[in-house]
Amino acid sequence: MSQSREVSNAAAPVGAKTGAATAPSKRTRVRRLAENARYDAATIRRIVDAAWVCHIAFVDEQGAVHCIPTACWREADHVYVHGSNGSRLLKALQAPRDAVLTITHFDGLVLARSAFNHSMNYRSVVIYGRFETVADADKPAALAAFMERIAPGRQAQARPGNAKELAATTVLRLSLAEASAKVHAAAPEDDPEDLDRPVWAGVLPVELRPGAPQPDGACDPAAVADPPAHVRDWPNRSFAAT
Ligand SMILES: Cc1cc2nc3c(=O)[nH]c(=O)nc-3n(C[C@H](O)[C@H](O)[C@H](O)COP(=O)(O)OP(=O)(O)OC[C@H]3O[C@@H](n4cnc5c(N)ncnc54)[C@H](O)[C@@H]3O)c2cc1C
Repeated sequence: MSQSREVSNAAAPVGAKTGAATAPSKRTRVRRLAENARYDAATIRRIVDAAWVCHIAFVDEQGAVHCIPTACWREADHVYVHGSNGSRLLKALQAPRDAVLTITHFDGLVLARSAFNHSMNYRSVVIYGRFETVADADKPAALAAFMERIAPGRQAQARPGNAKELAATTVLRLSLAEASAKVHAAAPEDDPEDLDRPVWAGVLPVELRPGAPQPDGACDPAAVADPPAHVRDWPNRSFAAT
């Protein structure tokens, strides 16, 4: 599939007003389809907050490049990730070394009248920077925020992490200071000479939706009969595009 609109637009200059903000650096300035760029904190936060997963790219000490998916959450102006102390990803990011974190929400297929003009609707964020290690004293609060994001109220019900579990866990955070967003939410943009073609054209929307909760076989019968709000309300939780 061609992304024709990705190759047809002039770049906005650094400092150009796009989405009520400017690119925070030269490398975050969107050049392709610059009119879809957003640099304002509200848009970037909304896209990050809708994410369960990010991808982090980095170069290891041998010079090999990697891009690894992992869970993420946001607090204030940072994106957080966590994992085992033994994870290559987490060890490498603590070097510290340059990294890029991306988030992608795929919102739909854009079917045009020509193959070339087919596209996708999406919201994405690219964040450059170096991760900081969250201090041991701050780890419980950071992990509690993650649990709250996953399932509000659950940390009062689940067993809290013990000292050994906390010690085995690394929490890192990346500032949102050097971030760009790109948002494409549009109908097909066909060439005028194709508009009369007798072919279906439009958008096939795609949406992430919650499924029905599935209690595990050993789940406490009382909890199955009277599930907590974060389980009961799960089917109504909205992941719709914002
Ligand atoms: C679901 C999805 C599907 C896509 N499919 C295609 C495709 O098939 N073909 C295609 O050419 N492009 C596609 N794109 C757009 C793609 O992400 C790039 O924006 C585009 O390819 C231009 O790349 P570039 O390196 O030339 O960007 P440049 O404009 O040169 O990038 C400069 C800087 O702009 C920022 N930036 C660039 N892209 C993004 C982004 N998507 N989100 C946030 N910040 C960004 C980064 O900071 C980057 O360093 C798709 C994007 C998404 C999210």
